[in-house]
Amino acid sequence: MLTGYLNALADLFYPQRCVGCSQRASDVLCRPCFEALPRITPPVCGRCATPTAFEVYGCDACRNTDFAFDGARASLRYEGVGEELVHALKYRGYGPVVERVMAPLMAVAVAGERFDAVVPVPLHRTRLLKRGFNQAELMARAVAGRIGAPFSDKLRAVRGTRDQVELTAGEREENVAGAFGARGRLAGRILLVDDVLTTGATLNECAGVLKQAGAAEVHALTLCRAI
Ligand SMILES: [Zn+2]
Ligand SMILES: [Zn+2]
Repeated sequence: MLTGYLNALADLFYPQRCVGCSQRASDVLCRPCFEALPRITPPVCGRCATPTAFEVYGCDACRNTDFAFDGARASLRYEGVGEELVHALKYRGYGPVVERVMAPLMAVAVAGERFDAVVPVPLHRTRLLKRGFNQAELMARAVAGRIGAPFSDKLRAVRGTRDQVELTAGEREENVAGAFGARGRLAGRILLVDDVLTTGATLNECAGVLKQAGAAEVHALTLCRAI
């Protein structure tokens, strides 16, 4: 009886559970989890968003890779609370993480820059039907709103792809080859948004399509970077 009452009271004051540790919290992240965010801070490689010893454009991790995008930024390492945030949205559909945590972090990563369009990595309709939403689109819309740039859905997924989690770098490239297309023309500097940068295969494929459709520059922005 008393426990029920106390729980009801706790629900009132702390209506949600922290995405990082599942404890009751007044926001989507409790203070310790917010402080434990695995932030990526300079110096980083401007080409692939890997933390480096010095500010560089091209590092050991990306030197032997061709990228169609002109640069990459990521806010967090894909681990700990960073990984929990991605999972909360992608697998549990917990939307408040986008506006409360993800978009502010991602907007800071491109502060002071101007983009002509913010474009999400698209989801093929079969997976979109299954999941009900495209997490990259939610992130791109929120980031576009924060930085005052137009959102664009001109990039489309023209065929389905396998889940990349278990695939090697080479398999990922094959998996996404020809999977995207542009509906209409693009121009200027494009900010291409996804949740996680791993090998860069998907972002690379998308950037190539955007450039063929007229984009002058494509800059990748993800919440997390697998390192
Ligand atoms: Zn927490
Ligand atoms: Zn690099």
